[in-house]
Parts: sequence; structure tokens; C-alpha cells
Amino acid sequence: MRLNINFDSYLELEKIGIGAFKPLKGFMTESDFYSVVDHLRLPNGKIFPLPVILPISYSLIPEIKKSKKIYLSYKNTTVATMEPESIFKPDFKKYIKKIFGTNDESHPGYKMLLASGKYFLGGSINFLKKVENKYTSYEKTPLDVRKRIKELGLKYVAGFQTRNVPHKAHEHILQLALQEYGGLLIQPLIGKKKKGDFLPEAVMTSYNVLIKNFLPENKIILGALTTSMRYAGPREAIFHALIRRNYGCTHFLVGRDHAGVGDYYGEYEAQNLCKKYEKELKIKIVKIRGPFYCDKCKKITTDDICKHSKHKIPISGTAIRNALINNNPISDKFMRPEIINSIKGKEIFINDED
Ligand SMILES: [Zn+2]
Repeated sequence: MRLNINFDSYLELEKIGIGAFKPLKGFMTESDFYSVVDHLRLPNGKIFPLPVILPISYSLIPEIKKSKKIYLSYKNTTVATMEPESIFKPDFKKYIKKIFGTNDESHPGYKMLLASGKYFLGGSINFLKKVENKYTSYEKTPLDVRKRIKELGLKYVAGFQTRNVPHKAHEHILQLALQEYGGLLIQPLIGKKKKGDFLPEAVMTSYNVLIKNFLPENKIILGALTTSMRYAGPREAIFHALIRRNYGCTHFLVGRDHAGVGDYYGEYEAQNLCKKYEKELKIKIVKIRGPFYCDKCKKITTDDICKHSKHKIPISGTAIRNALINNNPISDKFMRPEIINSIKGKEIFINDED
């Protein structure tokens, strides 16, 4: 039978197909789902922190049950085949708390998962066709990135996850990582995000400007990752580390409150959980201590090398975002004018939830 899937599911399918979600070979079955939620592991023992599931409508279940092979189709084109193994209806109310650490239905990740469906189909897939849309040119597959790492002759590559236009604290982190490891994969996440987050065009344009004008191009790979933000904090940090390992990174930079939202997670929870599973993840976790502007040193610095705690001016992503929204000036202490100019006068924020 043919099963039409929506764009979100297609993106997930593609990530499985290109090996970004390795060791996943298909959409999770019921036993995969509970094993991942309860133990952060697939039933075979391999670490995996978040559900990757395919919603189906209730009315299709009888037909699916009769089928040995399912043709997954997006906008009337077959994009993969699937061997159906498991149809299930998870008890979200009971289990989502384990993923997001909260029962609060206004949590954006919780909300997205609840809205995605009630019934799910698990099974291994045979991936046939990549996503083509206006963001395709931004993306690089694990194969592309591994090839590029070889071409550039990079021994170590640190993965940097972002969903923002870069300010000077971000730049400082990138510079430190370049100095320490000699190679960087800057991988903005451009899947489904929440209202008020930056649009992919703004993030990619500004990073292109930053790399072209201020950073060593032959040590950096820029490629977007098209997958949804889940705002699952510590679990999602593990997810992001695992993905970067699949792209060939040797190190992964984890910030404070990585993949967090509101105040659902502790500042260091994501870093600590990642560190705990570092060995199994087969990628080194690098904890980032937030750089700030020191008004005494007159530069961006960190607690490791500056002692002027009274002169510390934190660089707030939220304040910069608000200044950009209201067209207020931003000091070049915090953000390069070239970056601001590259996105000025354009639409740069997501306006609705979808
Ligand atoms: Zn200082």
C-alpha cells in the first residue's frame, strides 16, 4: 500500500536514510520507543535518547496490517519503502515526562509530540529519494561532510550546533575550538523551530559572512541539518552529539542549557548527561563556558583568563534578538556590523508555529 507522509516525517525519514540518525535503520517500533524513553537505549543496548516515530491515521490501520511492504510517499512521489513491524499507541501522558522532564503541555517539544499523532508505525526502511526544497542547497549529508573532512585534511573536527545568528561570544567559541582542534563543522539546525527563532536564511547568510570575512575557510565546513528542534535539553544534547559523530566529528561543543527552553532544565544538566555517555557516544564532549565581554580587558573573554568579575557584561542572545526585532543599534562589542548588515531589512524571524 501507499502511505502519504507529511513534511516533518519526510525529514525524519531522510535523516534515517542518509545515516544521520545511525544506528537507526527505520522508524521506531513499540519496543524501540519504550526502551529509548525508559533507558536511553535501543533494545540492542545502543544508546539513543529520543523517539523517532512515524504517525499514521487510525483509519489506515486495517490496510497497513494486511500489507507486507509500504510505499512511503510524499506529495505523490514514492520516497522510501518500509516493512511494517509494529503499530502502537504510546501512553504519551505517562511517558512524555521522561523525555522532557515535565508534564507541562505548553513545553514546545511536548506540544509538538502530542500534536504529531496518536498512532505510530514502526519498521525498517529502504530510503529512495532525498528532500528537495528551498533549503536543500544549505544541507550536507554525513557522506558529504566526511568527504570534505578528508579533502581538507582535518585530523580533529569539533561540531557546533546552532540555531542563531552568530554574535561575538559564538565567534569566540568557534575561535577557541579552531585553536584547540584545528577543524570545525558549523551545523545550524534548520528544521521546525518555534515562533521567534531565526529563519534559516538569516542563520546561513550570517554564518557565510562570518566565515568568508573573519575565519579560516579551509578549516571550516558549514552545512545545515534539517531536523526539528525538540527542546528536550539534556536528552537532545545527546541526540545532537550522536548526530555529529555520524557526520564525522571527533568532538562536540555543548553549551550551557543546550537545546533548552524556558527554565525546564538546569544550566549544566545537558553537559553533564552528555559527559556521562561520552565513551559510548564515541565523540568527545567539550563543555563550553559562556564567553562574555569584559569592560576592563576591553574584549570578549572567559572566566578562565579574566578575573574582572565586576566588569563582566554578558552577551545576551535574547537582548540581541530584541534589538534586531526593534531595529535598535547593537554595539560592535557584541555583534559584528557585517553580520548585522547581512540580515538587516530582511525577514529574519519565524512568525508562526509551523
Ligand atoms: Zn577582564
